[in-house]
Amino acid sequence: MRRIDLNKANVARSNTIRDINRQIVLNYVRERGPISRADIAHETALQRSTVSLIVEELKVDGLIEEVSGESTGGRPPLLLSLRTADAVAIGIDVGTARTIVASSDLAGRILELATFDTPADPTELITKIVERTRELIAKNKNTIEGVGISLPGLVDTESAKLYVPHFKWRDVPLVEELSAAVGLPVMIENDANAAALAELWFGRPEIRQVRDFILVLIEEGVGTGIVFDGQVYRGEAGAAGVFGHMTIGRGAPVACASGSHDCWEAFASERAALARYAKLSGSNGNSDMNFGRLMNLALAGETEAREALKETAYYLGVGISNLIRGLAPEAVIVGGPIVRAWNLIVDDVRATVESSTCQGLPSTPIIASTLGSEPTLMGAISLVLAGKFASASVA
Ligand SMILES: [Zn+2]
Repeated sequence: MRRIDLNKANVARSNTIRDINRQIVLNYVRERGPISRADIAHETALQRSTVSLIVEELKVDGLIEEVSGESTGGRPPLLLSLRTADAVAIGIDVGTARTIVASSDLAGRILELATFDTPADPTELITKIVERTRELIAKNKNTIEGVGISLPGLVDTESAKLYVPHFKWRDVPLVEELSAAVGLPVMIENDANAAALAELWFGRPEIRQVRDFILVLIEEGVGTGIVFDGQVYRGEAGAAGVFGHMTIGRGAPVACASGSHDCWEAFASERAALARYAKLSGSNGNSDMNFGRLMNLALAGETEAREALKETAYYLGVGISNLIRGLAPEAVIVGGPIVRAWNLIVDDVRATVESSTCQGLPSTPIIASTLGSEPTLMGAISLVLAGKFASASVA
């Protein structure tokens, strides 16, 4: 049971219950739509008249629309569906190699996107982001409601202070300048937290229904997003979830972003897999190699590439088993480009976790992200969209 925090306590206003009911109806339409008013009333035990009233409000607000259902003889029934005619959100995924700026509809479908190489100079990055964002806003007159940014670093969402170790950016005024330039609310979040939020709201149903999970994001680094009781756990100043820097062993093939050879990231990141491949294949210093190519070689059956992934999968499993022991989540989700080679690594990841989990404990499902190849872009978009579907009144 959650103890009431008197510093944040909000005495229930007369419209609090109405707000909650409104969000319940909206989420029925989002997840079960097209759905009839009668079915919503039946499943929620809300009165028909209350549902109809809320539906009218949601229609006026442009969140839902009526569509014709299948006729079973007479006039086809009118069903409710999310209104997806317009772009409502812009997501910006700042990666260490490239940045994506994309527009999305209310259902989280990407409508248009632009990509550019991420400049190391933060002023140049802000200029490019402002340019692309303005272009998308201009194409969608007055329908964009907010901008979300995902980035590979620490983010204090309240003060918008950020730190990106890869580029050594500290307190870059990205949020202030973008929001001043486009006149819209701008939200920002660490990439793994953002991907966890996207999984919670836009993942496949089997993931959406899980309320406690850990998302492990494997990219150039290793990040984790922790979801407890249906929300992302951020910790003090957004600093939770830095399991990528827990000590796994000694003498990793690469250094982590902070220069250590002992961290999980140094053993299980894309860079670690590439370093293993370079050693196994004797191709040290081949600048054409990248993680996508390594996966292609492994998928095509090349022994050294498979071995490099297999060894990386082992260390991925070691870290995951530590997280499972410490936090006992309902599921662990692995996200990032590596899911393309999921079939090649899943057995090794699971075997490592099984062998190091105490006997008698139920085994935790370890699943590949359902968000495809751009989980962090979906994360950036979710920062805007989740706010529309979440219940604002429940503290
Ligand atoms: Zn580290």
